[in-house]
Amino acid sequence: MTLDLIVVGAGPAGAAAGVTAARAGARVLVVDRATFPRPKTCGDALSNRGAEVVDRLVGTSRAVESIPHAVVHGAVAVFPDGTRVRRGFGGHDGYIVPRDTFDALLRNQLEGAGAQVREGANVERLLHNGTDVVGALVDGERIFARAVIAADGPGSVGWRALGVPYRRGRGLAVAITAYYEDVDFGEDEGRTEHYFESDLRSGYGWAFPPVDGQSNVGVYQRADAFEDGPRKLGAWLDVFIERHPERFAKAKQIGRTRTWSLPLASRPGPPGGPGLLLAGDAAFSIDPLSGEGIWQALDSGEQAARTVLAALDGQGLTMRWVRQHQANWTRRIGATSLVRLGIQDAMDRFIERGLYRSRIARGLLSRAYGSEAFEVSKKLK
Ligand SMILES: Cc1cc2nc3c(=O)[nH]c(=O)nc-3n(C[C@H](O)[C@H](O)[C@H](O)COP(=O)(O)OP(=O)(O)OC[C@H]3O[C@@H](n4cnc5c(N)ncnc54)[C@H](O)[C@@H]3O)c2cc1C
Repeated sequence: MTLDLIVVGAGPAGAAAGVTAARAGARVLVVDRATFPRPKTCGDALSNRGAEVVDRLVGTSRAVESIPHAVVHGAVAVFPDGTRVRRGFGGHDGYIVPRDTFDALLRNQLEGAGAQVREGANVERLLHNGTDVVGALVDGERIFARAVIAADGPGSVGWRALGVPYRRGRGLAVAITAYYEDVDFGEDEGRTEHYFESDLRSGYGWAFPPVDGQSNVGVYQRADAFEDGPRKLGAWLDVFIERHPERFAKAKQIGRTRTWSLPLASRPGPPGGPGLLLAGDAAFSIDPLSGEGIWQALDSGEQAARTVLAALDGQGLTMRWVRQHQANWTRRIGATSLVRLGIQDAMDRFIERGLYRSRIARGLLSRAYGSEAFEVSKKLK
């Protein structure tokens, strides 16, 4: 029996795509090479808009409150001289959700929605009939489907099928993270903190509120700036911790340090081809300014599934539907991200020239920071 849809990857993008398509009655197989719960290198920050999608997928309100989490009420931007600019989320709280349990919560919705799931199974490559993607080779077995959604993150099998190279420069970021106990948040408890450093162009260090006593701490940087920069990622995390004794004097690292790459939304439209859509990190969906990618994964996964459902009602997933998915993605994710790439460049100049020291500039920044242009964790419609 030919399936309607194979989804590669059961992370947020794949789970959103699988649940959405299966609930609408499509015959769906979701394949992930990992066995859940599995770790995912991440800062673990889920925005309010991301939490809304999770509620829809799980079918209850405040669904992430059923797993270990911290509630985030606001954010702080910290400048190299220690200046802090704060803002609240106006009641649109975000969350910190360790990814092992968060991703398992999403993955566990698949069977209930009617999808089949294969865990611990590797998609080696996608199958072609010359022009169209028609299935996937899963641990040596050829499985056919009318459409494939690749939601398998950086290095996607979809990139290989389409001949898309690994993007670098402004199209990629790198990040390092570890969990720490006993981080002292002082009066900024319940807020995410982003630290801008004069020698960390197009990047920031972060310290996020603890879940079960462990705070997610890390350093993020766009790849072009990182490649020109003074130190490797491991050294960056050490320097960040040393520079902020007010937070980390008593902090102890728990577990190991992790690094991973982030494919950024830096160009219009994700790649795609007949029979194949991409979603989440595989579709280069991460916001370059904030590093937020979970909402983008959930949203692009849902959107890809809706496009496949509409396409399968007719002639199948032709280029017309691929262009439709690209247009949706550009409208919902890509256009904003391109603007925010520009804001990131402006922020670099702001930091390099020390403008954050001027009272007027700080006043302007405080206003801008509360606006949608700098949004990290609040609701964005
Ligand atoms: C250090 C770091 C910090 C971050 N911090 C944040 C943050 O605080 N907030 C935020 O919103 N975003 C953050 N992000 C980005 C966020 O982690 C990603 O955007 C998000 O996980 C993308 O979800 P996804 O479903 O596209 O991919 P993933 O979550 O990576 O899931 C892909 C799945 O595909 C599976 N897979 C891969 N290849 C195959 C294959 N060949 N066959 C079968 N299965 C396969 C994997 O096992 C995995 O389960 C961060 C990223 C990094 C690296």
